[in-house]
Amino acid sequence: MLLGGEVTLAELVRHELGHVVMLHAGALDAPIAQWSTIAGFTTAATGEVANGYISSGFENEQPIVASRLALGLPRGDGPHYRAAGVYPTLYASFDPVEDFAEAVRLVHSDPVALGRISPARLLVAAAGEIDLRTPALRAFVRPSDAAIAKVLAEWADYLRTQEEFKRGLPPLQD
Ligand SMILES: [Zn+2]
Repeated sequence: MLLGGEVTLAELVRHELGHVVMLHAGALDAPIAQWSTIAGFTTAATGEVANGYISSGFENEQPIVASRLALGLPRGDGPHYRAAGVYPTLYASFDPVEDFAEAVRLVHSDPVALGRISPARLLVAAAGEIDLRTPALRAFVRPSDAAIAKVLAEWADYLRTQEEFKRGLPPLQD
């Protein structure tokens, strides 16, 4: 299986809950496109930021990419999506929807590793979920970091609604 043999049932459930969180709204394109700006996914045919829609239909990446990943091979270019970035897990590089679900899983199983690989993913996926003020995680949530500053600006409304931010994580000064 693509998540790897070491993943527990609880982690699998968290991954699937990540899908629920992202896809619970009626319109999927906005949340997927927003995440793709962090995760570096573009639509192969157009080069635009990936929003989950290919020729007006919602599409996951095609199985050929899953086959490569299952063999431990690099993702490569897919029929639907291009991935340009550093991915927290191999499966995260499949498409933006799986990348988000993997981030939600890692927030609980290994947030330090997630922050090391992608501070922006940690900031967004962990907001309201775990205490980002703990020193091990605070190290990654630095407003002076360009990627973090960009996320704080672009995700301001989202982050403001998260409980953690209401409880005073901002002003996030170094
Ligand atoms: Zn999944």
